Amino acid sequence: MGSVANLRECRYRSQGKHCYFFRINNEVVIYATMKENIARLINHSCMPNCFARIMSFGEDEDRIILIAKKDVSAEDELIFDYRFEVDQNDELKVPCLCEAPNCKKFMN
Ligand SMILES: [Zn+2]
Repeated sequence: MGSVANLRECRYRSQGKHCYFFRINNEVVIYATMKENIARLINHSCMPNCFARIMSFGEDEDRIILIAKKDVSAEDELIFDYRFEVDQNDELKVPCLCEAPNCKKFMN
């Protein structure tokens, strides 16, 4: 993530807030911690039923689109792979709690 994202993450964590970031690319990160959207609560899974794509709507507007990989029922939880970059530093690893049979044990 960029330096602004890192600073915001540190500030939110020090305030005891959860961090809801979605990186569009190396320069653009959406911060959903302070402005709510129900989609920010979609969990990660190593065996997702959805995937996220970035779609452009004009020159200045990009949106995150969540696409189902298969038919989902009304009671199914929507989940996608956050696709965090792999971090070699064990202290920075984020445990994955998805409980999927193919769980990678860490999200990064
Ligand atoms: Zn997992």
